[in-house]
Amino acid sequence: ARQFTRPLNDLANQFNVLLSAVAGAERVFQIMDETDEFEQEAERENLTLTEGNVSFEQVSFGYGSERTVEQISFSAKRGETVAFVGPTGAGKTTIISLLARFYEPDEGRITIDGQNILQVRKASLRRQMAFVLQDTFLFSGTILENIRYGKLHATDEDVYQASADANAHSFINQLPDGYQTVIDSEGGGISQGQKQLLSIARALLADPAVLVLDEATSSIDTVTEVKIQQALKRLMKGRTSLVIAHRLNTIREADQIVVLQEGRIMETGSHEDLLEQGGYYAGMVRSQFQQGSTAAV
Ligand code: ATP
Repeated sequence: ARQFTRPLNDLANQFNVLLSAVAGAERVFQIMDETDEFEQEAERENLTLTEGNVSFEQVSFGYGSERTVEQISFSAKRGETVAFVGPTGAGKTTIISLLARFYEPDEGRITIDGQNILQVRKASLRRQMAFVLQDTFLFSGTILENIRYGKLHATDEDVYQASADANAHSFINQLPDGYQTVIDSEGGGISQGQKQLLSIARALLADPAVLVLDEATSSIDTVTEVKIQQALKRLMKGRTSLVIAHRLNTIREADQIVVLQEGRIMETGSHEDLLEQGGYYAGMVRSQFQQGSTAAV
């Protein structure tokens, strides 16, 4: 059952809008910076990162007059993983979009290391975050450029190292043009799973404090899936990770599960806590996941 996702991910769309007209990574950052040239932004301080602790305090938001998320509170410390689960439309993507400051809360506040994200420069906020999304945002350019987008001044060696850590180096090297393979709108003949590995490599290179992950629901071949899981483990280590989770394994291993329904937090706790409570999550695990299954829901 795919009921937890929509085919097009809003967050990925946001990036695609940003990237669609773009020839290369330099231009992307120029555009991002231009949007920051409002006077207010200029007056703001950069985010001062100490730990990478993320906190939502009574956050409410609506795209229109109706509230999409209400009274969302949770916090995640460096090294912790928070998994967001809930049916489609529950508000998982909206929460992530608020953290990335694609939208601003109507009420409440979001902080990183105690600083309200609305009061720091957007570029300094986004520099501390990496996104690994289902619809990976790759732009037309070479694989090397696409990974280097994570850190524009990285050397080729840094890119190769990040690719190796992301389990991507060997498949890239097997392509006829290797790192010079051009990715176009068709994807350049690489699979969905391989695209994910590239986006993990990009995130590893960026080395952010905060990681946002939208777990894949489409089927990926088993070998690549194992590579992705391994690479993600490496990437998540020591960072604050917010995961829109679809796999029971991921959810089970999270430090905290936030169960959403219709924009509200229904319950929160670890897998064991929530099973013991015998509430919504426990019911969901019984009905949505087969016993012992790791399949996407
Ligand atoms: P999914 O698992 O399907 O991605 P979700 O839990 O991530 O769902 P959201 O994408 O956050 O849910 O959507 C929450 C609600 O907000 C839905 O009713 C959705 O239709 C609405 N919504 C999402 N993005 C927008 C937008 N850009 N403009 C207006 N409404 C939106």
